[in-house]
This record gives sequence, structure tokens and C-alpha cells, in this order.
Amino acid sequence: MKTALVTGAGQGIGAAIVERLKADGFNVAVNDLKDVEFSADVSDYAACEALVKAVKDKYGSIDVLVNNAGITRDGLLARMSEEQYDSVIRVNQKSIFNLTKLAGGVMLRQKSGRIINLSSVAGVHGNAGQFNYSASKAAVIGMTKSAAKEFASRGICVNAIAPGFVETPMTAQLTEEQQAAILSRIGMKRYCQPEEIAGLVSFLAGEDSKYITGQVIEISGGLTL
Ligand code: NAD
Repeated sequence: MKTALVTGAGQGIGAAIVERLKADGFNVAVNDLKDVEFSADVSDYAACEALVKAVKDKYGSIDVLVNNAGITRDGLLARMSEEQYDSVIRVNQKSIFNLTKLAGGVMLRQKSGRIINLSSVAGVHGNAGQFNYSASKAAVIGMTKSAAKEFASRGICVNAIAPGFVETPMTAQLTEEQQAAILSRIGMKRYCQPEEIAGLVSFLAGEDSKYITGQVIEISGGLTL
């Protein structure tokens, strides 16, 4: 049985990915900050070393890594604090270095694996009020493409998903005014559901996508057309 490690999977998109990968027949290691079997702060390198070891010890392999954990600390740049900037970069960007290196190391030895990174349309197109978040999600794309180039010859695919607006606790923080403005820009006039992201993860983790690597797939209901 293959094993998938999903970070930030206590709620929202990550929780939907866990359900889908379990239904697909994976052992799933559920990571979050707390209240899950594999609790760890993925922005902390030493914590990631312990996380990867714990998953490997329990299941014997890591076949799929879904770098899903992420945070927002929104605000206009003129008012953004250094802490707002640093915390988002640490969680959304450093975590990708930590786990691509560590779980990627396991995959290199296995000569197989899939790494799926959660970026965002904000990383591709930018977004007012998300200077920090856009920077981190653009970095995810650069890291995805670089790792894809380093790992392709060893049978490891690395891809990124760039969602638009997904209905989760993260977007529930937006004001009604902000939500109405967003919905008016989405061609399909509705938010993405977490299960729809999970379906794309399932494809990227499965046999039908084994010749796809280094790609960024937008899933945004026509938001960016
Ligand atoms: P969410 O806030 O609902 O869930 C994120 C989870 O990550 C939480 O359970 C949180 O505890 C966990 N987490 C935060 N910091 C962590 C850390 N340091 N270590 C381990 N776990 C940590 O968010 P979501 O909406 O489900 O988003 C999931 C991913 O998708 C994020 O990377 C986000 O940036 C991305 N994304 C979301 C949307 C959206 O509209 N919701 C759009 C584009 C991209």
C-alpha cells in the first residue's frame, strides 16, 4: 500500500485531500500543528526531520507528499508589519524547502514519488493586500519547477496547484463585502469546494499523471480568464 503525507490537514482543503487519498487506497499520514497523529510545525526543519522519520517508521515509505499547510496574514503593504511578512514566508515557503528536501530524499532513494504543492492564483497573478502571501506562493512555483528538474530522472513528479477561492475556514475570514467582490469576478459565480481540489490531487498522485511534472495547474472557475 502506498503512503501519502498531507500537511496542514486538520481542516479545510487538507482534510478533503486526506479523505480522497484514503478512498483512493493510500495510507495517509495526517499532519497539522496539533490534534492529529503527525503533529509538527512544518516551518521548523528539525520538526520536519522528526515528522518524516515518524511517517517512514510507521509506513515504510513516502510515495506522495502534499505540501498543503499555509497561512494568510493579509493587509495592505503600507501597513504590513515585518512579522506579518516573515511569518507567512516561514510557513508557506520554508516548509516547502524542508519537506521537499527531507521527504524528497526518501523518494530519491525509492526512485519514485509525487510531490504536490499548494500555490495560489495570488502567486501567479498577484493580489492587493497579499504582498507576503503572493511572494510565498510565487516562490512555491519556482521551487516546484526547480525540484521537478532535479528529480525527473529519478521518477519523481513535482507539480503545483493554484486554486482561486476555495470555501474553507481561510476564506471564511473575508468580510461579506470582500466575498461579494470576489464572487462577481469568478466566471462560475461560486467558490471552489475543497473536494474539487482533492480530485486534482488524486489525479496528480495517481497513475494517469505519471508523465506530468513541473506544471502549475490553476483551478479557479474562470477567475483568471
Ligand atoms: P486553512 O486555514 O483552512 O487550513 C490550513 C491548515 O494548515 C490549518 O489546519 C492549520 O492549522 C495548518 N497549519 C498552519 N500552519 C501550519 C504549520 N506551520 N505546520 C503545520 N500545519 C500548519 O487553509 P485552506 O484554505 O484549507 O488552505 C490550504 C492550502 O491551500 C494553503 O496552502 C492555502 O494557502 C492554499 N490555498 C487556499 C485557498 C483558499 O481559497 N482557501 C486558495 C488558494 C490556495
